[in-house]
Amino acid sequence: MNRVLIVDDKAENLYLLRMLLQGHGYQVQEAAHGAAALALARHAPPDLVISDLLMPEMDGYTLLHAWKSDARLRVVPFIVYTATYTDHQNEQLAREFGADAFIVKPSDPAEFIRQMEGVLERARRGEQNLPRQQAEQDAVVLRSYSEVLIRKLERRSAQLEQSERELEHAMRAMHLHSRALHASANGVMIAEVRKPENRIIYVNPAFERITGFAGDEVLGASPQQLLGQDQQQSGVEELRAAIREHRDGRAVLRSRRRDGSAFWIELTLSPVMDDSGTTTHVIGILDDISDRKRFEEELSRQATVDALTGLANRNLLEDRVGVTIAFTQHSARVMALLFIDLDQFKRINDSLGHLFGDAVLREAARRILACLRDRDTAARLGGDEFVVVLADLARAEDAAVVAQKILQALTAPMTIEGRTLTVSASIGAAAYPQDGTCYATLLRNADSAMYRAKEAGRDCYRFYTADMNAEAMARLELEAGLRQALENDELVLHYQPVFDCQSGALRGLEALVRWQSPGGRLVPPSEFIPIAEETRLIGKLGSWVIEEACHQVRRWADQGLDGFTVAVNLSPQQFRDRQLAREIDDILGVYRIPASRLQLEITESGMMEDSTGAAAIIAELNALGVSVSVDDFGTGHSSFGRLHQIALSEIKIDRSFVQAAPDNAAVAAMVGMMINLARTLRLRSVAEGIETAGQRALIASLGCDHMQGYLLGHPQAAAELEALLRAHHPGD
Ligand code: C2E
Ligand code: MG
Ligand code: MG
Repeated sequence: MNRVLIVDDKAENLYLLRMLLQGHGYQVQEAAHGAAALALARHAPPDLVISDLLMPEMDGYTLLHAWKSDARLRVVPFIVYTATYTDHQNEQLAREFGADAFIVKPSDPAEFIRQMEGVLERARRGEQNLPRQQAEQDAVVLRSYSEVLIRKLERRSAQLEQSERELEHAMRAMHLHSRALHASANGVMIAEVRKPENRIIYVNPAFERITGFAGDEVLGASPQQLLGQDQQQSGVEELRAAIREHRDGRAVLRSRRRDGSAFWIELTLSPVMDDSGTTTHVIGILDDISDRKRFEEELSRQATVDALTGLANRNLLEDRVGVTIAFTQHSARVMALLFIDLDQFKRINDSLGHLFGDAVLREAARRILACLRDRDTAARLGGDEFVVVLADLARAEDAAVVAQKILQALTAPMTIEGRTLTVSASIGAAAYPQDGTCYATLLRNADSAMYRAKEAGRDCYRFYTADMNAEAMARLELEAGLRQALENDELVLHYQPVFDCQSGALRGLEALVRWQSPGGRLVPPSEFIPIAEETRLIGKLGSWVIEEACHQVRRWADQGLDGFTVAVNLSPQQFRDRQLAREIDDILGVYRIPASRLQLEITESGMMEDSTGAAAIIAELNALGVSVSVDDFGTGHSSFGRLHQIALSEIKIDRSFVQAAPDNAAVAAMVGMMINLARTLRLRSVAEGIETAGQRALIASLGCDHMQGYLLGHPQAAAELEALLRAHHPGD
């Protein structure tokens, strides 16, 4: 009778199987798990074992493996009877491990018995299913595990493939994006939002091209600093607000390239937010709109600028006149309008063509402009008519000087397209406020003055107001005459003696210039020195005076006449000339005159214009041995402090004080104070303009050192002074 060992952890399974087997006459042993089964079998091996697979303690496979590894048990057939691992894979594995049959629960009882008896029959014939050798077994296990693994991997790789496809897709998109960024004509900048300042982390090549900054120069920099250097622009505020409010912002900004040149950009900022809605980055797109701006500006410029000449057009002219009138109203200054019309321009246009005519107009515009100061405006009304606005003039007559300058500039020969020609113009002038208080009136009056210039024979100017014409003409004549006087040697020096107040002895002579005009009139310096100063002829004139005075001293010395000083008056302009001391030194050398014989006079007001500069120049002159007097003392604004610091030798009390003193106790007291001041500063005092004995007596009683005036001697020509100089004994 066959003994069968049943292994199962479930009591009902054991019961059912025992009933079946016992019903067919088998002896049944039972075990609840693998370990118990092994123990029973090793004690007395059964003829057959039927084992479940899923059991606690030791599962069916482990039991099978141990069973078939046991030399005594391995011949005992083993049936795997399972409800759980029913698939082919498990059957295969069980058979590999040496199972003789693999029966799925619950099976038909008769079929079960038939299969079981088949197993026993084959075992009797020695046909048990034996497990493979260990190595083979391991290979099987490995294979099965690796299959599982492979399947897992396959699943994973399918997933991977999917994500890889997605990744590739994303990467291609990114690549496209970055290619697009790279190739974009717009500058792109990505900045990280940080406190206190945002930081650029990416810029594309267009950004580099537009701003002139290389990428590595700007990475880490603040976009605000880079692009909105001018923080006052309205656009900057809009962009700040956009960042603050986490929204897109767009603004037109004026910025500067790396080389400092200005350019215009339209900057669009878009925030990039993280999941929590915080802006972490800002993407900026820069559109270089400089060209567009230029175009716009060009358009608006065309509305104010004359396209042919680049001068202001009618619109701008009217504007400027309005502004200048407003300015002039609140100042003591004068403004004037010059209406300039080229003479016979129509003839040039008709004979040489419009293009040539245009070139002439352009050249005329250039020359007119060159005669003006920055604050003046030149405009073209159209055709050959120009208008100049002269702002900020001291006097209306000053417009005459500019008009004359323009006439001169225009009449210089022009060479255009290889052809040389001369043009002239007629100019009419009208001044604010006397000739009109608004643009329209001023323009009309300047225009009619221009017609009078045409009537007067062209190539000249006329003022709208008749008496101004006369004044201006006289001034211009004087200027032209003065130029001529310098060239033709028409200037002469007269000398006025200066005496000692106490002894009455001759101390010196003051050289005073006169102009012996061709008309026979001896023109006093008060009439031409101011014009010489305005026209800068004073430099030449002053040099002539110094040289002539020294020359005369030499002539007198050669006649044995010396022992007195000669004073020369200097204009403030000469006094500012850095070459002054050198020039005087040269002249003294040429005429072999000791420096101590020359004295220079500068008016108090002229000296105080630049007292620091004056102190320096006077020091230079003193170093040469030339002494300096303050002329017209009392009429300027000397600060006693400065006076004390300047190395002067003499003050000349202005004749207005000297002449008023005898009749006015207060003035007399002032003269006394000036004399005392001079004494305190160790300076000589000189009273100018003594005309009466009373003045002389008063001055002498106040302790003045020297005196000068018509009473004692008029300014006279050198020859007339000979007798006086001969009577003079040095040392008196
Ligand atoms: P100043 O240097 O104060 O010269 C004295 C002026 O007073 C002279 O006038 C002289 O003729 C005048 N004068 C002298 N005594 C009397 C008098 O008793 N009564 C009156 N009423 N006048 C008297 P002048 O020669 O017409 O010169 C005027 C001014 O022109 C000078 O004033 C001086 O500032 C300037 N000046 C003269 N010559 C030159 C020169 O060569 N260069 C420069 N830069 N200025 C000169
Ligand atoms: Mg003088
Ligand atoms: Mg004087």
